Amino acid sequence: MNRKQRIMLIRIVLSALLMIILNFIPAEGALRFILYLIPYLIVGYDILLKAARGIINGQVFDECFLMATATVGAIALAIYEKSGDYTEAIAVMLFYQIGEFFQSYAVGKSRRNITQLMDIRPDYANVEKDGKLVKTDPDDVETGSIIIVQPGEKVPIDGIVAEGESSLNTSALTGESLPREVRSGDEIISGSINMTGVLKVRTTKEFGESTVSKIIDLVENASSRKSKSEDFISKFARIYTPAVCLGALALALLPPVVRIIIGMAPAWESWIYRALTFLVISCPCALVISIPLSFFAGIGGASNQGVLVKGSNYLETLSKTKIVVFDKTGTLTQGVFEVDAIHHSTMENEKLIEYAALAESASSHPISKSLQKAYGKEIDRTRVSEIEEISGNGVKATVDGHLVACGNEKLMASLGVKAIPCHSAGTIIHVAIDGEYRGHIVISDIIKPHAAEAIKELRKSGINKTIMLTGDREKAAAKVAQTLKVDDYYAELLPSDKVDKVEELLRKKSEKEKLAFVGDGINDAPVLSRADIGIAMGAMGSDAAIEAADVVLMDDDPLKIAKAIKISRKCLKIVYENIIFAIGIKAICLLLGALGIASMWLAIFADVGVMIIAVLNAIRALFVKKL
Ligand code: ADP
Ligand code: MG
Repeated sequence: MNRKQRIMLIRIVLSALLMIILNFIPAEGALRFILYLIPYLIVGYDILLKAARGIINGQVFDECFLMATATVGAIALAIYEKSGDYTEAIAVMLFYQIGEFFQSYAVGKSRRNITQLMDIRPDYANVEKDGKLVKTDPDDVETGSIIIVQPGEKVPIDGIVAEGESSLNTSALTGESLPREVRSGDEIISGSINMTGVLKVRTTKEFGESTVSKIIDLVENASSRKSKSEDFISKFARIYTPAVCLGALALALLPPVVRIIIGMAPAWESWIYRALTFLVISCPCALVISIPLSFFAGIGGASNQGVLVKGSNYLETLSKTKIVVFDKTGTLTQGVFEVDAIHHSTMENEKLIEYAALAESASSHPISKSLQKAYGKEIDRTRVSEIEEISGNGVKATVDGHLVACGNEKLMASLGVKAIPCHSAGTIIHVAIDGEYRGHIVISDIIKPHAAEAIKELRKSGINKTIMLTGDREKAAAKVAQTLKVDDYYAELLPSDKVDKVEELLRKKSEKEKLAFVGDGINDAPVLSRADIGIAMGAMGSDAAIEAADVVLMDDDPLKIAKAIKISRKCLKIVYENIIFAIGIKAICLLLGALGIASMWLAIFADVGVMIIAVLNAIRALFVKKL
């Protein structure tokens, strides 16, 4: 509890005690009024001030205005009727403040919980200086520095293990509870926790560019992108409150006037009382609080499972997803190719690989990484110049003065080189040197362990259609598509063809069904931003992908797509429950109030009760582990 909340609690208790004590003091007239004014002001002065400020600033119709008018009105009635019953006004303020107190406490607590769940921000990095460890602000550590991560500490900055062996707990990042073993030469990402051994790490990024900073940025900015439901609620509140005030005014004036016309006693007091009750009931705080809180909890729960959702609007779209389109390489397959064979080579195999690896040295495509691994030696970049990557086709470069081209048949055709076709099912990298065909390298990719299960899970959770797009050859694509049992696949697509294909799919489906595209950002970042919702692979994926995507899967596990969809559906269900519940109860109470059945007491109970239930319901969105 913070200071503000403690003071509020003291005010509530003090005012409640005074109110009870005053019941036993037989004061009359002006003295009675002044005595009762004390607890009323203790608990409600800030509401009155806010209401006054609202009126001065021209923003009249808010909750404070409703509460102030209702209670001041009740006091005025009590004076007019000479009943001396001021308790009701105090009680309304009191309960309203109890509700506010509970809400600020619950919201504060759940926000803290969520931030703690994602408590991945490292406080320091250990830099070795003169044989001693110095705790340094991660922001001040330069790229390429050596830092020491001791058991139990968080890895503060992305890097490569230079010395030591250990297992890492990455659950805060990926939701994956199995520890990951690392040794010298392995990449490690910030935010994971070192469990067993001391690690010397050479940093490869600045803190601001490291995984952990990016995640924190994403989540902190998530709440600024509002969902339609949230928009609806704020618009609703804007129209609703003035409407209710008008309704109250009508309720106070019309029936008495009608009664006068038809010759009855006007009964002003009774109708004004009903109008004031009406105002108390109409307070829309349950909705205004619980809807954003539900989304916040949903996003928090998802990030705890390794799924980063960049805003509540995306959570909403995700829940309506019916079509999922996948990129193949790096998304459904691991994007780690092994060289299987070399065919029709007119030079030594090693030499062919060497030329290919050198030509590919600047590409970030998984194919390039694999060829460099197959080459196995350090790349001498001085031998390579004039590199040109033709995305979705391959690369051209000058190596040792020779023009080397490697890529698919389309690339060869564009150079006027006749490629020898290959009958293997793998991906084929044709190599031409100085315009002459020099053979091809057959490489193959491994399907991700959870890929087939992921497709099955998606179908089970109500996805109508799964489609795979790839720039790879028909043969390689067909094999993957059959193994995974996707509904449809399209091969040999250039990056722009992928955009066209997705646009065609977007045109064909209905507005209500949403289309998600899942990719790693290599040759597909434009598609990620074009789809209704773009899901990127966070670990393997390029920075462009993480930038362009709306949802990021931290551990690249395709099974998380179904999980993300389930989380979003649970969250949206809670949102709708709260909307219907709160508006429903309000409507009933308003009716009862207008009919004179509900007293102001009942009204305030209903208001606070609805809010507490709605907030508790909202917090449920945080618990998504078992989905
Ligand atoms: P996917 O759609 O499966 O992710 P891409 O669009 O990234 O595939 O690439 C499509 C095809 O283009 C690859 O299968 C390969 O034949 C060729 N290609 C793309 N980039 C390269 C590269 N850097 N080197 C060689 N071939 C490449
Ligand atoms: Mg790709």
